[in-house]
Amino acid sequence: MKDNLHKVNRTISNMPDYDSFYSKFSWEKEYESLDGLPEGGINIAHEAVDRHANSNRRDTVALKWMRNDRSVEDITYADLKLRTSRFANVLEKLEIKKGDGVFTLLGRIPLLYVAALGTLKARAIFCPMFSVFGPEPAFQRLSKGKAKVLVSTTKLYEKKIKPLLERLPLLRTILLVDVDQHVDDKVKSLSLLMREVTDHYSIKDTQPEDPALLHFTSGTTGMPKGALHVHRAVLTHYVTGKYVLDLHPGDVFWCTADPGWVTGTSYGIIAPLVNGVTNIVDEEEFDATRWYSILEEHRVNVWYTAPTAIRRLMRLELKPLDSYDLSNLRLIHSVGEPLQAEEVVWGKKTFGMPICDNWWQTETGGIMISNYASMEVRPGSMGKPLPGIEASIGSIEGEKVQLLTKPLEQGHLLLKAGWPSMFRAYLDEEERYKKCFKGEWYITGDLAKKDAEGYYWFVGRADDIIKTSGHMVGPFEVESALMEHPAVAEAAIIGKPDAMIGELVKAFVVLEPGFEADEATKLDIKGFSRKKLGPAIAPKEIEFIDSLPKTKSGKILRRLLKARELGLPEGDTSTLE
Ligand code: AMP
Repeated sequence: MKDNLHKVNRTISNMPDYDSFYSKFSWEKEYESLDGLPEGGINIAHEAVDRHANSNRRDTVALKWMRNDRSVEDITYADLKLRTSRFANVLEKLEIKKGDGVFTLLGRIPLLYVAALGTLKARAIFCPMFSVFGPEPAFQRLSKGKAKVLVSTTKLYEKKIKPLLERLPLLRTILLVDVDQHVDDKVKSLSLLMREVTDHYSIKDTQPEDPALLHFTSGTTGMPKGALHVHRAVLTHYVTGKYVLDLHPGDVFWCTADPGWVTGTSYGIIAPLVNGVTNIVDEEEFDATRWYSILEEHRVNVWYTAPTAIRRLMRLELKPLDSYDLSNLRLIHSVGEPLQAEEVVWGKKTFGMPICDNWWQTETGGIMISNYASMEVRPGSMGKPLPGIEASIGSIEGEKVQLLTKPLEQGHLLLKAGWPSMFRAYLDEEERYKKCFKGEWYITGDLAKKDAEGYYWFVGRADDIIKTSGHMVGPFEVESALMEHPAVAEAAIIGKPDAMIGELVKAFVVLEPGFEADEATKLDIKGFSRKKLGPAIAPKEIEFIDSLPKTKSGKILRRLLKARELGLPEGDTSTLE
């Protein structure tokens, strides 16, 4: 299937041939395409902003921000340089030092992006939080990350942070984005401070291994962990922006993720800016017609979203090509959850191009396995490793890793350690960090298979695997089969302890509109899945549910379904949507 070659012809792909590019790829060579600081070293914000502002791209729109009311503010690279320099100067004035934590609790407004990049200029560590976090998840992150500064709004601060202040002795300053006067010694007006400093800032010596970004994992399998990334990560952002998202000069790019999820920082801020394109930021949440009209009005060329949004669009059965001119759209990528074959094919029907799945994690800092504009897409597969990344499937016994080389053998998804955006620590959890590595391999915690042509297929999180009657069942396989039934809109499966068969496969199903949540539908879905999967693997129990519990980044929280089913404590639910 040469499915997604059709549009690429209009723009020559940055990677016309995957195999030859992969075999020749060198991180060192790509590193030469970055600018570096005048006195040596490398800083993410310099690569993302200043070097373009100092070049003939200075008047290119860096951020195209859309307010809730749909009015637009354009911020050029030159302007972004000045704003981020002011922010870095504010941090210096507040005596924020290299390695100090600067957090945000903000919606998607320009100051969030200015704070992110200004923090990186000042060599402090940036950590974005979802604005919808309640006090407890915010407290967990602020205290774990030893935040010294928090940027927020009056409303969010008053409601969520103020009651916590006594428990956060290290938090020195709160910068409010919506007041003109300082509130007290601790709570200050950001705009007032920004006016008091200059817009000139020289980034000081930043070494590639200096910490830059702190991201908390989505917590699908337990307590969120703080993954620390360094300035060298910008090389992965650059490379993946160029060869996966296939960004070209003059492109308009839109990543729909919030920076509170790693995708919204790596690809909603850094990768597009490092590649010098125009990056769309929408303040509003998901809205199908708004989204389609943004794609049209702003002539988006490359769109990066997530399966959860794709499924919502699918359910609406709108035909965007009938109502919107999407002729500029060249490439659609998706990340965060398995992208079902059906969803890839829906992209082809709906937009004239298959949706390209890619795989990565908070810990990997950037895309590691992907489909590419110039490569044949196999619907349901995550694609092939990024050039520069060595992936494998393996079994783990104690400290030993045994590579599994036969096609379609199921095992742990492994990555050869050492890529630029690899996390360098779990905050205060050294042992846990060490456990992620066995010899030269990083153990991703996911199970997968590799086919004879080198495509990777997701099986499930190792923690979500169900052991039933001697079989190891991955949720993805069962959920995909269930979703082929016309009544099933979404499905999640869990293993329920069973004396006879170890664990019993139980499915939670969200029905499509118009289907009855009754015994007849249940029996029909059961029969259908038995035929598809065989009786050993097909769900023995089905429960209808109005919606599946998901993280804010759209990942199904199977662990929560299981805890509820078994009457166990729900554990950390801070990332619950
Ligand atoms: P997070 O670090 O919170 O973004 O979660 C990373 C996890 O999300 C991965 O380890 C996978 O379990 C899952 N994930 C991300 N992208 C994909 C994908 N394309 N296909 C299947 N699972 C994915």
